[in-house]
Amino acid sequence: MNPLRQFSTTEVMSFRPVVERPAPGETPLGLELELEPDGHGHLVGVATIFLRGAECSFKCTMCDLWKFTHVQPTPRGAIPAQIAATVQQLPPRWETHIPLPPPHTSTGRHSSPSIEGGQAANPARERGEEAPSRPRRAAGSENPRDVPPQGAGRGSGVTSRREELTDEEPHKRWVAPNECKRWVAPVEWIKLYNAANFFSATNVPPDDLPQIARLVRDRFARVIVENHPRLCHRGVELFQAALEGTRLEIATGLETVHPRLLRWLNKQAELEDFARAFAWLHRRGIDTRAFVLLGLPGLSRNEAVEWCVRSVAWALDHHCRHVSIIPLRATNGLLENLVTSGDLQLPTLDDIEAVTQRTLALRHEGRVVMTDPWDLDKVAGGCSHCRPLQRARFQGMNLAQRAWPAVHCSCTAAPSDPHGCV
Ligand code: SF4
Ligand SMILES: [Zn+2]
Repeated sequence: MNPLRQFSTTEVMSFRPVVERPAPGETPLGLELELEPDGHGHLVGVATIFLRGAECSFKCTMCDLWKFTHVQPTPRGAIPAQIAATVQQLPPRWETHIPLPPPHTSTGRHSSPSIEGGQAANPARERGEEAPSRPRRAAGSENPRDVPPQGAGRGSGVTSRREELTDEEPHKRWVAPNECKRWVAPVEWIKLYNAANFFSATNVPPDDLPQIARLVRDRFARVIVENHPRLCHRGVELFQAALEGTRLEIATGLETVHPRLLRWLNKQAELEDFARAFAWLHRRGIDTRAFVLLGLPGLSRNEAVEWCVRSVAWALDHHCRHVSIIPLRATNGLLENLVTSGDLQLPTLDDIEAVTQRTLALRHEGRVVMTDPWDLDKVAGGCSHCRPLQRARFQGMNLAQRAWPAVHCSCTAAPSDPHGCV
């Protein structure tokens, strides 16, 4: 491959496609409810509020999050108003379905917990406390912990009804209703994601932080916000104190530990900055979550897989409680150009599979490694028959925190065809 050209901040911005961006306001851009493993064998209901706010002042080469921000600084009071309106509407409990593993999953490779028979997470443990005699209450609910996961347990009979997967319409088998499990979870964690940095005064006015803490601390056991490693300062400590024991977690785009590519990404942070920030947060009892990219320019697909696995290992070794792997997508103008010029090979389903298998083997008690299945339909590899099954499988592996057997489809029998069997 050609040597990669370094792009300046101005050049990065010049590639941006024209898109309609949100105006400042007091309503969030969206809300998502999902389940996450807590690293101790339990699944937690998590609400993510996609906040409407100002654009990040860093201009990373691969970033497209600016599309979900406005140019003006976030107005004072806008973020608390968005959070208050959303939290008020949140159901105390949330019902969903989780995929079950295919029948022959006892690879025995990991001692990781099974999702089967799981329970909701314990907020007290989140805060490093012993279990309280009276559980923390979700607003407006009775006792959220009194709601058992429905149909949980190996004795539910669901597993025994499944047949061996074959390449004949596998998606109609695995994701059929009787191969998912109904799951009811209290919504215990909240992500306040602003597509920028929570502790930048332009993105979240510092005067709003105490009110934000008041809005979430009595309702949630954990609050997760995004932030750049160079913005770990007194404001973080003050916010943590205002949360009064609700656990704070900072999510950071580590992206890669490849030193040259980290510089190329225009993160304006070296690996030592990340190490220093993660240690600083750890010393204060603040958890960290890292986003790691799969697929970077100037690397072959094999090298990209290797560097992704190394980056996850580095993050786990540097206090990260949770690592999310993000397969790179070309969605910001600049990356599409690199794909066209042959400088960027986007990850395929096989690459995602390899990284998922290898990084799940790295995790250990208390740590979580997940592969983001977002936009999986656009990734090369597989076929339209097995794609829904693949999606369910990645979601299931994320929740179970262990590898499941590969999907059997005629496309996997012909790996030389990158577009699959249809
Ligand atoms: S720091 Fe995060 S939000 Fe800001 S430009 Fe980089 S990737 Fe995007
Ligand atoms: Zn297929």
